[in-house]
Amino acid sequence: MKKIILFVALFTCIGSIGQKLNPNKKAIIASIEKHEAELIKISDSIWALAETAFNESESSRILADYAEKNGLKVTRGVADIPTAFTATYGSGKPVISILGEFDALPGISQKASPVKEPLQPGAAGHGCGHNMFGTASLGSAIAIKELMDQGKIKGTVKFSGTPAEEKFFAKVWMVEAGLWSDVDVNISWHPSSGIEADVQSGLSLIDFIVEFYGQTAHASADPWNGRSASDALELYTTGINYYREHILPTSRIHYHIQDGGQVVNVVPDYAKLWVRVRDPKRKIMLPTYERVKKMAEGAAIMANVDYKISLVSGIYETLVNRSGGEIMQKNLELLGPITYTEEETAFGKAIQKATGKPEIGMDSKIYPLKETEKNPGGGSTDVGDVSWNVPNINLGVTVAPKDTPWHSWAVVACGGMSIGHKGMVYASKAMGMTMVDLFTNPKLVEKVKEEYKTRKGDEVYEAMIDGPPPIGKD
Ligand SMILES: [Zn+2]
Repeated sequence: MKKIILFVALFTCIGSIGQKLNPNKKAIIASIEKHEAELIKISDSIWALAETAFNESESSRILADYAEKNGLKVTRGVADIPTAFTATYGSGKPVISILGEFDALPGISQKASPVKEPLQPGAAGHGCGHNMFGTASLGSAIAIKELMDQGKIKGTVKFSGTPAEEKFFAKVWMVEAGLWSDVDVNISWHPSSGIEADVQSGLSLIDFIVEFYGQTAHASADPWNGRSASDALELYTTGINYYREHILPTSRIHYHIQDGGQVVNVVPDYAKLWVRVRDPKRKIMLPTYERVKKMAEGAAIMANVDYKISLVSGIYETLVNRSGGEIMQKNLELLGPITYTEEETAFGKAIQKATGKPEIGMDSKIYPLKETEKNPGGGSTDVGDVSWNVPNINLGVTVAPKDTPWHSWAVVACGGMSIGHKGMVYASKAMGMTMVDLFTNPKLVEKVKEEYKTRKGDEVYEAMIDGPPPIGKD
């Protein structure tokens, strides 16, 4: 008897998934499946190109050309950034926008293989899955355009091709150029090792370069004539490392030594570091940044050298929108989990083995919407700056096995094969379905906007950047 009830319940459940999908959402899924092979081809091309921040000319062109071929109006080189573009369709309200990133990370080239094996030694790789990010989002925008052509929905869809997320944070300049000023709601996603309507913020950060200038001399014959820039560098990093004990546990300080002198027998007259300060709250991050800046002066005094500080970029933490997250969550529940073949599960387990993680395979279950954490961990994104200018709905979708180290060869490997492809297509559907809700239900748009206004309060957004976008800089 119990078995029969279970069977009936299961049958009803499967039957109701199809019924719950309204015709517009069914059309979105059909459109994305129609374009699936092309989307995978585009994602794989961008994966193989693996172009880094502001060098993404081919990746950007591939996406912009595909948008144009599918009838969207493309504007290239927006915000004075050659690789940034927008692709729009439709007219009037609501204006729903969607973000697409496509830059890679240096030094983590990898084949689509579950063991560490560079495609090209020393080259870049898509260790954050941005090859899938831009492609999935464009797929959703095209599906919405096709629904508009059928006269089913009205309004404007706007895809933004946003370069240089891994370094420089191009969206900050794109926000300054007013690219989201007419937008009602923005949608974004990120490749992940789980599926979730993402209602967590990230860390605000600031990036700056510190340079020390001294005087060269022979390191042994007349070192008293030298003033060492690398002494200043060492004193500076020592100061930073002592300071770590006295910052809040939520804050982070990182540095990357870019130049510490060239040879052992010359007192170096030049040293350079890239420094980054983060915290989940910009208001806490800023005073820490001021203190870390001041330490450069202290180090310069001790080593008797000059110093210079140049701001590179800075980004806000993400403003969460739970009302938007609830809309996305319902669509994830409609779509259900991703299913994997035995080969894909074995690939995932091999990645876990190679990276020293429990061999538990893929996780694509749909969990209930999480509580929003007060002090989230994790990384930072320039989606944050967009989210302080327009309500933002965020999504995470499985493209790699559980616990995969991010920004690593393992993510590159999965992004170039069917595990990544499945996640990308899934993300495209979930975002397209969420856009259908926004285009057809003005009350939902109002609710999302109301929450945005409440969370933003009287905070006035002020970009943390200095000058034009640093195109062609290191
Ligand atoms: Zn990323």
